Amino acid sequence: VGSPEFDPFEHLSALKSLAPAPYALLTQLFTQVDATRSRIKIINGLTNFIRLLILLDKSALIAAVWLSTNAIGPPYTALELGIGGSILSKALKTVSGISGPALKTLYDKYGDIGDVAFEAKVSVRTLVDPPRLSIKGVYDTLVQIAVAKGNKSQDLKQKLVEKLLIRGRGEEVRYLTRTFVQHLRIGAVRTTMLTALARAFTFAEYGPRCAQDKLQKAEEVVRQCYARHPNYNDIVAALLESGIEKLVDACPMTLHIPILPMLGSITKDMSEMLLKIGNENTEFACEYKYDGQRAQIHYDESGKLSIFSRHLELMTDKYPDLVDVLRSHSVILDSTRSFILEGEIVAVDQSTGALRSFQSLSNRGRKDVQIASISVAVCLFVFDLMYLNGESLLNRPFRTRRELLRSSFTPTPYKFAYAESIDATPLDQDAISTFFNSSIQSKCEGIMVKLLDSITPTMTATNKRTRPLLSTYTPDLRLESWLKVKKDYDSAADSLDLVPIGGWYGNGRKSSFWSPVLLAVRDPDTGVFQAVCKCMTGFTDAMYKEVKAKYDEESINVTRVKPDDFETPLMPEYFWVPQEVWEIRFADVTLSPLYSAAQGIVSDRGLSVRFPRFIRKRDDKGIEEASSPAFLAELYKRQQSRGIEPQAQDQAA
Ligand code: ATP
Repeated sequence: VGSPEFDPFEHLSALKSLAPAPYALLTQLFTQVDATRSRIKIINGLTNFIRLLILLDKSALIAAVWLSTNAIGPPYTALELGIGGSILSKALKTVSGISGPALKTLYDKYGDIGDVAFEAKVSVRTLVDPPRLSIKGVYDTLVQIAVAKGNKSQDLKQKLVEKLLIRGRGEEVRYLTRTFVQHLRIGAVRTTMLTALARAFTFAEYGPRCAQDKLQKAEEVVRQCYARHPNYNDIVAALLESGIEKLVDACPMTLHIPILPMLGSITKDMSEMLLKIGNENTEFACEYKYDGQRAQIHYDESGKLSIFSRHLELMTDKYPDLVDVLRSHSVILDSTRSFILEGEIVAVDQSTGALRSFQSLSNRGRKDVQIASISVAVCLFVFDLMYLNGESLLNRPFRTRRELLRSSFTPTPYKFAYAESIDATPLDQDAISTFFNSSIQSKCEGIMVKLLDSITPTMTATNKRTRPLLSTYTPDLRLESWLKVKKDYDSAADSLDLVPIGGWYGNGRKSSFWSPVLLAVRDPDTGVFQAVCKCMTGFTDAMYKEVKAKYDEESINVTRVKPDDFETPLMPEYFWVPQEVWEIRFADVTLSPLYSAAQGIVSDRGLSVRFPRFIRKRDDKGIEEASSPAFLAELYKRQQSRGIEPQAQDQAA
């Protein structure tokens, strides 16, 4: 299916007898995708596979999309498999008859639990072949595993895992097991899946030789649809029912389904911000950049209220105090019947309203918080309104959205406030500097600068802009209509959000802890992790303990063998399964004789950072939101444009 010449019609009659679509067909695709780093080949493979399923077994398509993207549902439904190492090793022992020590030997040899399961099962012979697994059957069983709750749930999960493994043959066992641990290790990332869906449905409607611009338009439509309604169940159902052309109407922005957040672009300092934002007449808002947790709040006419994190997880039960404020303090005006708004939740001193650090906020409980147990008070600083009374505001300029925001709510001291802001033009430099300084004094990270009205292309003496700059709300896009000006840290303009991918044991007092830790950027096109630096500074003892418990040597979170999707010149004692994002600050980005991260973007050499320091865990970001090689390269270019001499050396070498 990886070939561009693949024609599903040719294979249809042969495959028809196989319906419902067998899981083996999907694992064959995984094997092909696994064998390549070429994004084009991955997209071709996925596209052809989707075309085949559209013809062969539509009911398997949604299941195949979830299984290929390493999830079983959208983040806001919190469908977690919850299959730990212990369930998995018990199931493997039962299914293959292998002993615990033999399993450990295989794990030390292969380092990947999928490869271990494959090897353990390959020699098992059964008298009667069990019935074949279907794509939909596998998916449905995974959902059963995820919803199993209560004190017997571990046994039930184990039984269901065993059931799948018994029926799995050859490669199926490898990918089933990788799916159990949610580390599929194929490069079918979100962007490739969205492109493949767009292509497959365009081919299905217009034939495989349709014009290139049709394909590009379709890709844009599907990407935008996902940014406003990130749920493959609904997107695939709408595509099957209404096709690409009607997708936007069939799958619109919907209350209680979070939209992907609009993102800001970094600027190195105030003068670069002023250059970027437009000419001397451009009006923009400067707002405090609060240091808390981003929240997207949905409210409907029935009074239902949902709070989502930046990572699209439902966190209403983390903030019952905020729910209470919104419900009972007349914050929501009677005329405001439904809305989607965005703001930053910040820890505050309840009696003075003074802002407290991000650290204080992270001391709050994470789930099912009871109002009586809350010791850290919060205030919501709202800064945008994306939906009001049944109408999407995404295409309205920020000036209008802000007016509507300010006329739809009543602030309540120290609990619900509008983000502190001033309006300015590039001529108001003194006022902007004063505002920036007051933001820092108030414990904010700097300011956000937001265009109030869209700028259309002009070619006047003062404004050479040839592309429009929109002040609309653009989900999932990092445009220059939202600029971040941050308080400087050493010389680096921004921090990196890196994924820990391995560790060495420390010396002396730290000999039983991981220190240093190897950190990587993630390529969003291929899903590959590229090592950037080793970090051993900034960790508290509590963090050392937490990291040790999570990446326990005996667990399936660590391995001695380098995974194929890691690019690193350094071999830590153990590699870790990527599962979280850490914010790292550093002195500067350097050309590296060692690391290959971002190689080819600014130089033949890769990039690294000097003096990396751990700042915090980014629980609000998943590994898909980690910094990319392109972002790292961007930081390097900015730093060069500021005249900072890059050091061609690695602190890690
Ligand atoms: P990004 O969200 O751009 O990937 P990030 O999450 O690492 O980056 P920053 O780069 O520090 O965060 O800046 C953007 C974040 O700033 C937003 O996601 C939001 O949580 C926070 N923020 C605080 N105040 C504001 C504000 N007034 N307007 C917009 N965002 C704000």
